[in-house]
Amino acid sequence: MNRKVLVTGGAGYIGSHTTVELINAGYEVIIVDNFSNSDPSSLEGVERITGVKPTFIEVDCCDKEALRKVFEAHDFMSVIHFAAYKAVGESVEKPLMYYRNNMLSLINVLDLMSEYNRPNIVFSSSATVYGDADVLPVTELTPRKPATSAYGNTKQMAEDILRDATAASATLHGIALRYFNPIGAHPSALIGELPRGVPNNLVPYITQTAAGVRECLSIFGDDYATPDGSCQRDFIDIVDLARAHVVAIGRMVEGRSKSQYEVFNVGTGRPVSVFELVNGFEKANNLKLNYKIAARRSGDVPAVWADTTLANEELGWKAERELNDTLRAAWMWEKHVRGIE
Ligand code: UDP
Repeated sequence: MNRKVLVTGGAGYIGSHTTVELINAGYEVIIVDNFSNSDPSSLEGVERITGVKPTFIEVDCCDKEALRKVFEAHDFMSVIHFAAYKAVGESVEKPLMYYRNNMLSLINVLDLMSEYNRPNIVFSSSATVYGDADVLPVTELTPRKPATSAYGNTKQMAEDILRDATAASATLHGIALRYFNPIGAHPSALIGELPRGVPNNLVPYITQTAAGVRECLSIFGDDYATPDGSCQRDFIDIVDLARAHVVAIGRMVEGRSKSQYEVFNVGTGRPVSVFELVNGFEKANNLKLNYKIAARRSGDVPAVWADTTLANEELGWKAERELNDTLRAAWMWEKHVRGIE
C-alpha cells in the first residue's frame, strides 16, 4: 500500500498539524508550501514532535511546472490540498487575487494528478459554504447558500470542480472536508497558528489580548437571536481536525470510499457562543481577559454548527478533545510564540 502523501500548504496551521498526525499514523509526507502565510519554523516543530523531518519543497502551486517536478520526483498516491488564501475580508477587497490563487492551484493539482495517475485527494473546504443556514445543525445535504465573499466562493467552486473532475474520471477519488472553526494548537506547543498582523479570527485575537499584544478583544455583537446574544460556532480542536484528514486518506487508500466524491462535516456537533468561548478561555487558563462589546461584524452568520453523524458513522471519526484542553493549548502556544514564562 502506498503510504506517501503530498501535502500542499503543509507549513500552515492546519497543514502542519495534519502532517504530524499523518506521520504518527505511519504515512510519509511530502510538503510543498510557498510560505505565503506560513513560516519555516512550523517544519522544525513537526520534526521536534515526530522525530521525522518531512520532505519539503518550496513551491507555489500556481506554478505548474515547479509543481510538476514534485510529481516527477515523488510517487505519492494521495494529495491533501490546503494551499489557499483564507482571509474573508481581504478576499472581498482583492477578489481576483483569491480566484487566481485558490482556483489555479487546485486546477494545477488536479491536472497533474490526472497526468501522473495519482488517484486520491482531500480538499480543505469550509462550513462557510452553508452561509446563514435555515435549519441547524447543518448536514452535508443542507443546501449551500450563495457565497458572500470571494473566499467563500472559492470554496464552493472548488467543491464543484472536485465533484466534476471525479465524475469525469474513472479513477479519481475526492473527499471534501468542511471545517467548522478550527482552534487550538498541538499540546506540545511546538506548532500552532501564526497569524500575520492583526488576527481576524476569535481565538488568536483572544490569546494575543491575553499576551498583551492587543489591548482589548471586541466581541462583535451581543444582540443576535441566540441564547446569550453572541454568535454561536462549532469550535473544533486542530488535532481532532488533523486526524479527520488521516482517516479520509485511509478511506481512499484502502478503497473504502462509497463514491468517488464524498463530503463530510468536520466539527464537534456542539454550538458554543463567543461569550462561552471567552469565559471558557478565562477559566481554563485562570486569567481575566480585557474585552468589550462592539458592533456586529458584517458578513457574520448568527449561528452555525455541524451535524457530524456522517463523519462519525462513515469515517469512524469524532472530535475527542475537551474544549478546556483546547483553550489551554491555544494559550500555551501563544506563550511559546511570545516567550512568556
Ligand atoms: N469574533 C469576535 N471578535 C473577534 C473575532 C471574531 O467577536 O475579534 C466573533 C465573530 O464575530 C464570530 C466568531 O467570533 O461570531 C468567530 O469568528 P471567526 O472569525 O473566528 O470565524 P468565522 O466563524 O467568522 O469563520
